Amino acid sequence: MGNAGESWDDEYDVVVAGSGAGAMAGALAAASGGLKTAVLEKTRVLGGTSAYSGSAIWLPGTAVQERAGIGDSAESARTYLRALIGDGTAAHREAFLETAPELVDFLERDPAIEFEFQPFPDYFDAPGRMAMGRSFVPLPLPAERLGDLAGLVRPPVDRDRAGRGHSASRPLVQGRALIGRLLLAINATGNGDVRTRTALTDLVVEDGRVTGVLAATADGPRRLRARRGVLLAAGGFESSSALRGERGVPGEAGWTMAPDGANTGDAITAAVAAGASTGLLDQAWFCPGVLTPDGLPAFTLGFRGGLIVDGSGRRFANESLPYDQMGRRLAAAEGPFHLIFDARSKGLPAISVPPVALEEQVASGRWTEAGSLAGLAARTGLPAGALTATVERFNGLAAKGVDEDFHRGEDPYDLFFTGGKPGLVPVDEPPYYAAEIVLSDLGTKGGLRTDPDGRVLDGADRPIPGLYAAGNTSASFTGPVYPGPGIPIGSAMAFAYRAVQDMRR
Ligand code: FAD
Repeated sequence: MGNAGESWDDEYDVVVAGSGAGAMAGALAAASGGLKTAVLEKTRVLGGTSAYSGSAIWLPGTAVQERAGIGDSAESARTYLRALIGDGTAAHREAFLETAPELVDFLERDPAIEFEFQPFPDYFDAPGRMAMGRSFVPLPLPAERLGDLAGLVRPPVDRDRAGRGHSASRPLVQGRALIGRLLLAINATGNGDVRTRTALTDLVVEDGRVTGVLAATADGPRRLRARRGVLLAAGGFESSSALRGERGVPGEAGWTMAPDGANTGDAITAAVAAGASTGLLDQAWFCPGVLTPDGLPAFTLGFRGGLIVDGSGRRFANESLPYDQMGRRLAAAEGPFHLIFDARSKGLPAISVPPVALEEQVASGRWTEAGSLAGLAARTGLPAGALTATVERFNGLAAKGVDEDFHRGEDPYDLFFTGGKPGLVPVDEPPYYAAEIVLSDLGTKGGLRTDPDGRVLDGADRPIPGLYAAGNTSASFTGPVYPGPGIPIGSAMAFAYRAVQDMRR
């Protein structure tokens, strides 16, 4: 832990570690309220996984849903969350629901921030579900509005991995628009100091209160004072093989979607050293992924054709399940897993981030092509008899249009990507293909235990003065459930906002 009593290199009211959606929303709440605020970002650019995201935001019962006329309300969201999660985290749920409309009003009052409803079904068939969801997204942001600041925002996944910046001719969309808009708003306050290549390494604790942080920079260590509080919103530990192994998080650090290997749980480790307690450490926001030619994963959802088999060559789940649920089925089954498809369906999912192309995947050897199922089995090592029997059974179900085995196509979510059809397309037109599917994730979701105001709790459930956490640095109030599109970002922003309100009291 950082030594007490030494001098400070810089002094702030609020220090925020990380620059994802929660961090940036918290920083805006602080800076716009007149608090001198620092945003510390470990990498060269802002936004982390939030910048890669689709930036769906699940904050129910706000002005955005009201404008869209979809009939959403805090009551129906409460019914839905209760049905899925129970009442174990009821205080957090109520704080989240109470804050959602206030947070959106606060954000939309800023000239830099505008949202619109985006249809995307909630993920579970439960009371209170909205068939077309209740999440919203930021409007695209013309790069000119950001000017030189555009270079500070993490580019889209494919361009970022190739070492390229934003496209000069296209607006920033999705997660980039969200981070860009929050950055513009923070910048306009004149109270925000955004420091990239600055990694939180430790907390300074004086008389039982967190009073600042130690940070590693290119110019050496810095000791930064935080008069009101430190908000830890520096992602989870998805990129740490050691912590994943220790905590039993399924999947591999190399298969996470988080960028640059940066989310290694630094903020969680620093807080634990200061007496913080943790929860839910074996959990992540899971998804199926396919490995791209560079060996990095692509997040995939909305399979419109093909079928997924396990290492024994058998189906084991409804391939159209929402991605976190499919990820959990992958974690429970025995791999390796393959999406089997044919020339007709082309097998490609509706959404793949970054986009994947069949020819490129096959040419790189990531995906296998063969003229027959037996040939495919020989090349992938799958048992030929079982694979052939599985595909024949699947084709029979496809002919009937009913998945008697796994009920694919029965839930509105399944039909969202397939134009209302069940997505049961026979696999009988050679050549055949096998795409290896891995268990990927959008970040771990266990971490520091907090109260409903984002205050980090010690082992005796007492808040540690001056210390707050949000996003994947904190244990999610949703437990092992991913209720709907935009919960990671919506809850990160809500609890970061609440943390800053608490600091201001
Ligand atoms: P991040 O956004 O990863 O931010 C953490 C930041 O902290 C990073 O920039 C990192 O470099 C930095 N950092 C790490 N360590 C330190 C340190 N020691 N000091 C300083 N900085 C540090 N969720 C949704 O809600 N809606 C969606 O539409 C959605 N779509 C997605 C689409 C894709 C393709 C992906 C990959 C994810 C998606 N998600 C979505 C999930 C969501 O993006 C993440 O779970 C969430 O954004 C994580 O937020 P975070 O702030 O906890 O972490």
